[in-house]
Amino acid sequence: MERKPKTTQKAEAHIAVRQARRSSDFVVLGAGIFASLAIMAGVFFTGVASVLYGEEIVDEYAATDPAADFIGNAIGFGIVAILLLAVILTLVRMMRQQMLGNALQVEYSDYAWLREWSNTVASDLQMPRVEIMVTQDPVINAYAFGFASPYTIVLHSGAIRWLTHDQLKAVVVHEMGHVKYHHTKISTYLGMLRLVPVVGAVNGWLLDFWSRRAEYTADRLALCYLRNNEQVKSSLIGVHVGPDVARSFNEVARQWQVYMTSNYFNRFTQTFSSHPFLVRRLARLDSSAAQLLASGAAGTVPSKTSSSKVVEK
Ligand SMILES: [Zn+2]
Repeated sequence: MERKPKTTQKAEAHIAVRQARRSSDFVVLGAGIFASLAIMAGVFFTGVASVLYGEEIVDEYAATDPAADFIGNAIGFGIVAILLLAVILTLVRMMRQQMLGNALQVEYSDYAWLREWSNTVASDLQMPRVEIMVTQDPVINAYAFGFASPYTIVLHSGAIRWLTHDQLKAVVVHEMGHVKYHHTKISTYLGMLRLVPVVGAVNGWLLDFWSRRAEYTADRLALCYLRNNEQVKSSLIGVHVGPDVARSFNEVARQWQVYMTSNYFNRFTQTFSSHPFLVRRLARLDSSAAQLLASGAAGTVPSKTSSSKVVEK
């Protein structure tokens, strides 16, 4: 009876986590999973029907019991699914071992501050600490993976080389958002639906509707946590167009490209991408920033970034 205050304190999430979260993400995820399962069931029952009612095959199978066949197939599918999941989980763990063996943990580099800073973010967001690895890849990019602690964020050497410290922070909060909202965990399990023979590609297309929403949510968390729209947008622009022309991606270029991509064919094209297009991510950030301002929420959380003594590149 006396322990009540302790539990309420624990349940209190960081304001940025609540501001960035969208319950509609789960609706889209549920719809994607449901549609994938429906397609697989359709293929399965079409196969069963062709065996039961197919004129050429019916004689061959006449002696067998259809109900026993169905149960046998269902058990077979179950065993395959469990084996597939075991393989996927093992591969994700192996990916971490590969990074441990080949990449550098950021705390042993001149970027050790990034690890300390990510620990601060993790405690603010009430999430597990993440390990950050740097791997040699000139492409400016980063990603997160893991289905249970330890979660890993991989920074390409291209990101370290070309992004400013503030941009790196935005990238890391974005990736931590994928861990905080369980995107990396969910993606691991969704791998089962993506790897199904024949219909896997269709399943992947359906599930990517959720993947793209997950990107918007991770962007929004970076915005709500850092309270600096330009910081998040400049990191996205740097990652997408590279350091040499990033500054040229100004308001004129943006407005023209927003205009040129405001059509159904562009939206259709985007459905074949796991990530939303840059112009839409920037537009979403702008509208989220405007909403934050309108709600009077901006500045209500002291930014942790202001206290770090980091010299910009
Ligand atoms: Zn992402």
